[in-house]
Amino acid sequence: MTATRVLVLNSGSSSVKYQLLDMRDGARLAVGLVERIGEETSRLVHTPLAAADPAKRERTGPIADHGAALTAVAEELSLDGLGLDSPELAAIGHRVVHGGLRFSVPTVIDDEVLAEIERLVPVAPLHNPANITGIRTARALRPDLPQVAVFDTAFHTTMPEYAARYAIDVETADAHRIRRYGFHGTSHAYVSRETARLLGKAPEDVNVIVLHLGNGASASAVAGGRCVDTSMGLTPLEGLVMGTRSGDIDPAVTFHLMRVAGMSADDVDVLLNKRSGLVGLCGDNDMREIRRRIDAGDERARLAFDIYIHRLKKYIGAYCAVLGRVDAVVFTAGVGENAAPVREAAVAGLEELGLALDSGLNAERSDEARIVSPPYARVAVAVVPTDEELEIARQTFALVAGESLE
Ligand code: ADP
Repeated sequence: MTATRVLVLNSGSSSVKYQLLDMRDGARLAVGLVERIGEETSRLVHTPLAAADPAKRERTGPIADHGAALTAVAEELSLDGLGLDSPELAAIGHRVVHGGLRFSVPTVIDDEVLAEIERLVPVAPLHNPANITGIRTARALRPDLPQVAVFDTAFHTTMPEYAARYAIDVETADAHRIRRYGFHGTSHAYVSRETARLLGKAPEDVNVIVLHLGNGASASAVAGGRCVDTSMGLTPLEGLVMGTRSGDIDPAVTFHLMRVAGMSADDVDVLLNKRSGLVGLCGDNDMREIRRRIDAGDERARLAFDIYIHRLKKYIGAYCAVLGRVDAVVFTAGVGENAAPVREAAVAGLEELGLALDSGLNAERSDEARIVSPPYARVAVAVVPTDEELEIARQTFALVAGESLE
């Protein structure tokens, strides 16, 4: 077999992130980002990691749409002999945010699959349209190449009905496809499996609580490799306190704001998704800046941090109850991987649940998956860097090649 490369595309409304990987060893050959698509100040940053000169290349100037963006990416890749026309390219893997109930596994995209992803736009209006644009563009460039959709919701389709359903009128819920879908699934899948590996066990044999703490944040309870509960719901708004999202809130806040404050549904949407969470509480959503302000004695930053941690603890406790037996609590994504004070505060006082931290190990900086609890702790606390692109590439390649080379 010669075709062992996978191009992973993560298309946002005005950006495309991409990575080209070789699935013989999972090596990254090139990574890059096109941002501010459709503006005068578009920018493409391309790093040809496998080239003789792996220095970053940058283009600035207008890139009109996703088609032009992907054409520019293809040109950059061609400069190092890695173009989209290469026979070594096996497939393109697309991150698709919402797969609804239909898509529980990675799926080769044909017209019918694309139409179904479009039918899900009403439940994912912010994300699916951009993913669809990316898919259409890539198919136009390489119509003969397998294109695979890897869904953020897929890992959570194993949730039992009692965890996935909201306690609202069943007919209304079903008519509008209202239920808990969960997101960040590719990360939860990858990190829970890597945690099992770190513990030297098979995924089927471990129960793990995964805390994906980035700008968006979600928790999941994974029993024997299968997700049994997760904190995000119909949309990524539910659950933990996030950079700009409120997470859990009494739904009556919404109609109170509409009736009493005269806000529209769209106003409340923007308030809860963009102007809440850490940014709403203290004006900053970067945990580094919040910690700096706390160290300088800033009370608002302190309160924002405490609210963030309190919610996190409630989910750890809840998922201990959901799982019954927990082997590991694992932190991942920007905050989870880097912010030792968040890990320390989240685990503090949970000794009765079997959780403890080795503060020396927790404070060490590392890019490696590692255990930060003392050997006597009943539940391991781990830090596992997430790698959604590698996971998308693996799932894509496994589907088109019918095997995994790694
Ligand atoms: P997303 O993919 O959701 O945009 P990331 O997983 O990249 O987010 O996480 C971004 C967040 O990680 C930043 O907003 C910041 O709060 C946090 N972060 C990144 N590096 C550090 C660090 N060294 N210390 C603390 N927090 C960090």
